[in-house]
Amino acid sequence: MPGPPEGVGMMLVAPILIEHGSKELKERFIRRTVIGDITWCQLFSEPGAGSDLAGLQSGAYLSADGWRLSGQKVWSTGAATADFGLLLARTDWDVPKHQGITAFVLPMRQAGVQVRPLRQMNGHSSFNEVFFDAADVSHVIGEPGGGWAIAKATLAHERRLAAFPPARDAGGRAWREAIAERTAAAEPHKWYPQRAGRTDLVIEQARALGRASDPVVRQEIAKLIELSWSARWMEERLAAARAAGQQSVGSLGKVASSKIARQAARVHSLIAGPAGSLAGPDSLLGGIIAEISVSVPAISIAGGTDEIQRSIIAERILGLPREPDISVGIPFRDVRTG
Ligand SMILES: Cc1cc2nc3c(=O)[nH]c(=O)nc-3n(C[C@H](O)[C@H](O)[C@H](O)COP(=O)(O)OP(=O)(O)OC[C@H]3O[C@@H](n4cnc5c(N)ncnc54)[C@H](O)[C@@H]3O)c2cc1C
Repeated sequence: MPGPPEGVGMMLVAPILIEHGSKELKERFIRRTVIGDITWCQLFSEPGAGSDLAGLQSGAYLSADGWRLSGQKVWSTGAATADFGLLLARTDWDVPKHQGITAFVLPMRQAGVQVRPLRQMNGHSSFNEVFFDAADVSHVIGEPGGGWAIAKATLAHERRLAAFPPARDAGGRAWREAIAERTAAAEPHKWYPQRAGRTDLVIEQARALGRASDPVVRQEIAKLIELSWSARWMEERLAAARAAGQQSVGSLGKVASSKIARQAARVHSLIAGPAGSLAGPDSLLGGIIAEISVSVPAISIAGGTDEIQRSIIAERILGLPREPDISVGIPFRDVRTG
């Protein structure tokens, strides 16, 4: 059997609908998501609301024809091909900022939605800007005004970077078709392995380029392996805590992945020297080494930046005082935003 589809639908939307969706939403969307009939994107970030996600300003209002949405999202991965979006919008401007947000399912293929792809510094184009003009957002997830809890739950799933075990290669027609379909669907995201730093290539590259006996290179590789192993053990410990019903903070794993990616990029540059910055088919590993350097920054930003993860660790694990928030208790329309 081919495995479940990868991406936002399985990783974020299906768990959120199971936890917060009505019976109708579950019946309508979960099965189609799990069998790969429909795909999803995450429509949270806006030009003025990334780290300060609760400051979002895309607005939805209830009209005679149902909920309508106007505004803009940005950095929306996969929005150019997705069928539906998991969306946060402001539905009440007269309450404090966290209380006026609602989560919706947005059908992407409609007149009120315009998607414009962005080009990244690694040459790929997986992000998009998405503009809404009275778009139809008929499905509310949970209660109107209850979107912040859904936002937090989604980000917690995202930070755990859930991975489904790959299906086993059974060699048959269904398998080949599933792989072909997956490869086509993953085309805009084919740089994703590089954003994690490609730790798997480090030793092989050091040997291939004759750098494996250089003491400085060996020391940096050892540092990388130590980081990777301790991150794996920490992830296992967090998974055991979750299984035992204890609270676990995904930010620890998120910061660890980000440190590993940066260290891996550093080691690759150290091994390759200036040749590591050459792109194109004639360059090292067909340009993969160069692509690593311009892709790893993504991991420190996506799903909440390293700085934001450190604040979460400080507040929730270390019990340090909360970051001051001047918007507490003030109606959103009176808060300075952006
Ligand atoms: C690969 C990738 C995929 C993404 N996919 C999606 C997606 O599918 N859907 C989606 O909605 N979004 C997506 N994003 C957007 C991502 O969630 C935001 O980029 C991220 O939350 C940061 O927001 P920002 O870009 O507005 O930066 P800002 O919030 O403007 O931050 C700028 C800098 O200021 C720092 N900073 C901000 N506030 C604080 C603070 N309180 N304390 C300390 N430092 C602070 C940040 O750490 C950062 O260094 C994606 C991003 C990347 C890189």
